[in-house]
Parts: sequence; structure tokens; C-alpha cells
Amino acid sequence: MRNQKQIDGQRQMDFASKFNFVREAGTSGEEKAAQLIREELEGFGADCQEEPFIFETFRMKEARFVVTEPYEKEYTVTGYGRCGSTPLEGIEAPFLYIENGDDISLTYAKDKIVMVNAPVKKEMYEKLAAAGAAGFVSISGTPVDEGEDLIPRAYRLPVLAETPLQGVSIHYQDAVEIVTKGASRAKLVVSQENTERTSRNIIARIEGTDKAEEILTLTAHFDSVPEGPGAYDNMAGCAIIMELCRYFKENRPRRTIEFIWFGAEEKGLLGSRNYVNVHQEELAHHQFNMNVDLAGQLVGGTVIGVTGAEAICQMLTYMAHEIGIGMTTRNSIWGSDSNTFAWKGIPAMTLNRDGFGMHTRHDTMDLLSPWSLARSATLLGHIAESLANIEIMPFPKKMPEEFMKQLDEYFEG
Ligand SMILES: [Zn+2]
Repeated sequence: MRNQKQIDGQRQMDFASKFNFVREAGTSGEEKAAQLIREELEGFGADCQEEPFIFETFRMKEARFVVTEPYEKEYTVTGYGRCGSTPLEGIEAPFLYIENGDDISLTYAKDKIVMVNAPVKKEMYEKLAAAGAAGFVSISGTPVDEGEDLIPRAYRLPVLAETPLQGVSIHYQDAVEIVTKGASRAKLVVSQENTERTSRNIIARIEGTDKAEEILTLTAHFDSVPEGPGAYDNMAGCAIIMELCRYFKENRPRRTIEFIWFGAEEKGLLGSRNYVNVHQEELAHHQFNMNVDLAGQLVGGTVIGVTGAEAICQMLTYMAHEIGIGMTTRNSIWGSDSNTFAWKGIPAMTLNRDGFGMHTRHDTMDLLSPWSLARSATLLGHIAESLANIEIMPFPKKMPEEFMKQLDEYFEG
């Protein structure tokens, strides 16, 4: 970087520390976070725009699971989002533990409420439906959890055309009790409704000098999951691109750089999907998306996930050599907002640092480090500055066929 000394890890810490609250998309927490991002930008004179959008989600009204035979006990459960509702009074059926839901076990699932080990995703849901299961329970947590960690995790299915059976998640320790005590019959109640919420993206644009029509994006999502305040996932990423926004305001690039803080990433990349819809006509000018998701913890290593031609991995690795900051690359699709750009044919990357506690209440500021934030901001800043000022963009714009197939499946499958 031309002026590496302008990158300040402590300033990123101070900024991220203002967001020590849950920011679930569509809630007042997320709205407040958007306001804080705007204030920060205005504080150093960067113009920004807010782009609100509406999304559909679910509201869980009730989720209950009661073993009725050979003993009677109600257990604490969390309902699965988007699996529909049981009749009001619930369903009562024989109960069976079917472990991993293998094909042998599934032959016994018909008309039963079945318990499986892993969180139920689309594929397992369809298997359970095909096997004629009446309902499902999945196991979360560990044998050593205590206190708050005994609350079963919340899961949601993708939007499915049909939801013939409903399900809940239960804690590991309760699952052990249920099987040990020989539960043979149970009752399941799930009640949820669809509702509309508003989320928003914040966009700050730094106009390029002589190559302004070519656009680069630096992006990070600012929403969190409901379980915790998401410092590592992803206020750290937000702080890194904020630091780079300050930098490029002082060190104006040849190409235009758009800085985007996305809402509702945790609900299925909804912020970036809204962005590519609203800005459809400009997408042809986009050269490369640089996303950050999961960053800032001290202990960890940096992986740059590149969705685009393999040559991009080599060029990014070369840039990391220039600045001497360790990283590796992985050439694949990536479960974050960079996928959305790639899906639109724009080469994209996500900078990702390994870390602890994603999507839990343990994902707090305590684990972030100014050293790590400065290091990632310097690496990403160097990449962005090189690309923003290079005479001719060196990245092939063509998305490999194989990724295009995987992205279609990811977004439409
Ligand atoms: Zn994230």
C-alpha cells in the first residue's frame, strides 16, 4: 500500500465495539447498526446512500415436544423455520430415533415422529417426507453444555414448495434421556406464520479519477444471527472495509470503489441479492468484488475464497507476496455475499479468517484484536489499491462453467 501507516487497527476495534448487540435482519438492532454505519461515514465526510428492501420471513409462535409414552414429559425445543405448522392441537404419533437418517433406518419412519442427529437440511427433509415421517426432531448441542447453552439451536429450511412435515430441534442431553428412557410415543406442535420485514444496505461510493467507469466493490454484511452480537461474523469485516473507505477517501483511486455494508446476509444473502437487482444496469461495469466475512480474531489464518478463474488466485497470491502477509487461496464458490456477484458473472472473493464461535453467543468483541484487523485491512487494502490503480484489469471476467452450475444450484436449487 502507498500509505500503509494510515491503517489503524485500534480505530477498527473502536468502531466494531459500538455494535455489541444482536443485529438480526429486520429488527431494530439491524436498523440501529445501519444508523451507526452512516454516522461513521458522515464523520469523515463520505457520502452514503441507504437502500431499504422488504423480505419475507417467518415468525415462530409455538414449538412444543412432549413424550407421551411410556412416560410423560415436555422438553424444551426450538421450532424449525419454514416447515409450516401442525394442526393447532399438534400431532401425536409413535416416536423413533433414526440416527443419521440412513436408508435402513428410514424404512421404519412411516407415520412416526423421528429423531435424527444432524440439523435437517433440504436433502434430509425430502428423504423424511418421502419416507412418510409424521414429524422430526433434530439434535443440537454437546454433552458438556450447561446453562444458556442448553437451549436448542434454531434452524430454518430453505423456501420449499411443499412442507408435509414439521420439526423441532432438541438439546443433545435431552435426546440422550429420551432414548435411554425408551420414549415410544410423542406429541409435536409447531405453529408459525409468514411475515414481511425491512432490511437495508448502506453504500458509499468513491469516484475514480481517470478510470471511473470501471467499478470495484468492497463489501461486508452487518447483520448478525439472533444467537449473538456477531463481532467476528461480521462487524470485523464491516470495520475493515470502513477503514479502507477512509483510506481511499484520502488516497483516491483511478477506478471507482463502492463500499457496501449489506443487511440480511444471514437470511440468505438478501442484501447483496437486492443490490444486484437494483443496480442491474451497472453490473457490466463491475470488475471485481472483494467481500470480507469472518475476520478480526487473533488466532487464525487467512483464506481468500475466489469465485472466478483460477488465474485470479495466482494473482492475489502474488499481491500478498508483495506486501508479505500470509494467506492461502481456495478456488470455489463461497457461502457469503461474494457468491451473489459471481452469480452475475462478476469475479469475486471473500477474505475469511478462521476463528471461534460463529453464530453463537460467544461471538463477542472479546476475541477481536487490533493486530488482526490491521493485518487483514492492510492485505485487502493492498489488493484493492493494486487493482484500483493498475493500467489494465488483469482478471479474466469469465466465470468458469463449473462455478456457474454450482451457483445456479445455490441460488435456485
Ligand atoms: Zn457472516
